[in-house]
Amino acid sequence: MLPFRLVYSEEYDLHLGDHVFPSKKYKWLHDRLIHTRFAAPEDFVAPEPATDQDILLVHGSEWVAKLRSGTLTYQDILRLEIPYSRQVVEAFWLAAGGTTLAARHALEHGVGFNVGGGFHHAFPDHGEGFCAINDIAVAVRRLQKDGAIRRAMVVDCDVHQGNGTAAIFAEDLSVFTLSIHQFNNYPSEKPPSSLDINLADGVGDAEYLNRLGNGYRAAMAMFKPELVLYVAGADPFLEDQLGGLSLTFDGLMERDRLVIWTALTHDVPVAIVLAGGYAQNVEDTITIHANTAAIAKEVLKKLRP
Ligand SMILES: [Zn+2]
Repeated sequence: MLPFRLVYSEEYDLHLGDHVFPSKKYKWLHDRLIHTRFAAPEDFVAPEPATDQDILLVHGSEWVAKLRSGTLTYQDILRLEIPYSRQVVEAFWLAAGGTTLAARHALEHGVGFNVGGGFHHAFPDHGEGFCAINDIAVAVRRLQKDGAIRRAMVVDCDVHQGNGTAAIFAEDLSVFTLSIHQFNNYPSEKPPSSLDINLADGVGDAEYLNRLGNGYRAAMAMFKPELVLYVAGADPFLEDQLGGLSLTFDGLMERDRLVIWTALTHDVPVAIVLAGGYAQNVEDTITIHANTAAIAKEVLKKLRP
């Protein structure tokens, strides 16, 4: 068995049809992990959907009611950039429950892994950029409410800035938000994170890892979180259709190793969520996500043989 659980549900699929966001990737990743014998069926755990009460720890009641009742305006749907359906709503509630469960697993086993989530563009009162509910923020607030943690750090390595997460925790000194992203990319307006690492177009492995390592290690030493939520976006990849950084498969694996190793060697557990990935060839996106799981296993085995 794996040294950590893989939180997954078939209902993570948003059923978007022909859309740049390949939301079938969760199922394809699940299947890949089984077929390569990286994981067995018993390594997977199905999450419960978050309760409305949990969602309301982050989101406004008006936005939650709109999603629940299907009364989004045309403007709401334009910003969200995905069509509305019951399945979409169920999937977001489930992703939030999944990230919360992965965060609980992290506190218990060192690493938790949600084969989904990472919807960092969701704001308290609206969704945007394929994100309706901010699962990362819901998990943090729920664990804080339970008294399981006080201080959390979000390490957002998606190619796009984590604007929703930054806005949610802007006034909250108990949560440190780090975002490393391509500056000349969506979102055009970037509400400040605790630490934003703005990268120029086309930055490759060496500069990326150097900038991330310096910022992250300094933040870790200063802030001393009790939990890291690692947003492991696959879209800094050089063949991503929505990204303009030039990371290789190896560079992305080194990034995973850096984030997970640094946290665990500081005795800080890590909850991993997946986030974006729009590679020309969807198999590449699956490979990047599968590699993140493999690195988590490698690091855990090295530190806790
Ligand atoms: Zn992204």
